[in-house]
Amino acid sequence: MTAGSTAAPDPISVGAEVGPRVAVVGGGIIGLAIAAELLDRGADVTVYDPAPAGTDGAWHVAAGMLAPGGESAFEYPHLTRLLEASGELWPSFAARLGDVGYDEAGTLSVALTADDVADCAREWKHQKLARLSGSQLRDLEPALSPRVRAGVFAPTEIQVDPRKVVAALRAFLEGRIRSRSISDLSELEAEVTVVAAGCGTATLTGLPIRPVKGQVLRLRGEPGLLRHVIDGAADGRHVYLVPRADGEVVVGATQEERADRQLTAGGVHDLLRAALDLVPGLAEHEITEWTVGHRPGSPDNAPLLGFLDDSHRTVVAAGHHRNGILLAPITARLIADLVLTGSADPLLEAFAPGRFG
Ligand SMILES: Cc1cc2nc3c(=O)[nH]c(=O)nc-3n(C[C@H](O)[C@H](O)[C@H](O)COP(=O)(O)OP(=O)(O)OC[C@H]3O[C@@H](n4cnc5c(N)ncnc54)[C@H](O)[C@@H]3O)c2cc1C
Repeated sequence: MTAGSTAAPDPISVGAEVGPRVAVVGGGIIGLAIAAELLDRGADVTVYDPAPAGTDGAWHVAAGMLAPGGESAFEYPHLTRLLEASGELWPSFAARLGDVGYDEAGTLSVALTADDVADCAREWKHQKLARLSGSQLRDLEPALSPRVRAGVFAPTEIQVDPRKVVAALRAFLEGRIRSRSISDLSELEAEVTVVAAGCGTATLTGLPIRPVKGQVLRLRGEPGLLRHVIDGAADGRHVYLVPRADGEVVVGATQEERADRQLTAGGVHDLLRAALDLVPGLAEHEITEWTVGHRPGSPDNAPLLGFLDDSHRTVVAAGHHRNGILLAPITARLIADLVLTGSADPLLEAFAPGRFG
């Protein structure tokens, strides 16, 4: 049966000898994570993406912060619960994938000026984290500028390298990813179709997903300048610095309600200015890469997860906005459950794709 059917489906047996035929549209981090989970649980999965070995998705640009508290502290309590649930799955998800740069050193959230401290204080209070002085912060991270005034240590805000995650998922799914851009879901001969095409989901389903542009730089220098992720405010400019073990430092990111792919002078200036104000030693690093990506945003900036319509043959997993890397493991688990059993986990209730009317 294909998308558009109105007949209620039978639940698909997880233990069936030959699992259900599932098409996953989109080979970004969400589509691949879902496909890997389905394959693991016996489904006959095919992923469709125009560039199965390419770098088109938001995952290629993303820094890979796994920040259940920081990024969503004031948004949406249901989303916070989903982020936390996914954070709990990350250690075993990463362990199954091998070396994906999963690093639990944690995040220092820091502020440069008195205004920056006032700006950050609300979030720090919400997270119930103990305030640290500038010198306490420099004891933990000596490369921080002497001008940094205050901050907090967030031990649960950690990081992974999304490019390594996607490479590992692609390897796991070898032979099951087809090079094809889907324009009509009814073309696919599958029992269930999962639409996980990031920003491309809007055209395929009519759902309200919009691109939210982000500019990101990658620097490289001697490994070890920074140990923690730094999430900082400097003279009203916000930046995060994500240090990898090999000396790369990801500097991100702008957040713009735009669909273009231009790297702008203003965007780069603001990122570098804030980065160097907080960590002057980065001035010696080489700029190795600049990228522009688009977060798939929804009207409430929470993801759309669930059946597209009453036919129960098309499932949507999109709109993960700023948290798609963090949310990959929980999305994979909940969507695989939905595909294989036909019934939705209560956690999914708040994320119904049809909630915007
Ligand atoms: C600047 C920036 C920084 C970010 N930082 C973080 C972070 O630190 N932590 C975090 O958790 N998240 C972060 N994110 C968000 C995260 O990258 C996204 O939420 C996540 O990548 C969404 O995954 P996705 O698979 O839905 O979409 P994508 O990763 O964009 O992948 C979508 C895939 O669908 C394919 N596709 C599109 N249309 C079609 C079609 N018609 N047919 C077939 N395939 C199609 C595309 O080719 C692509 O491969 C960041 C994003 C940006 C842009």
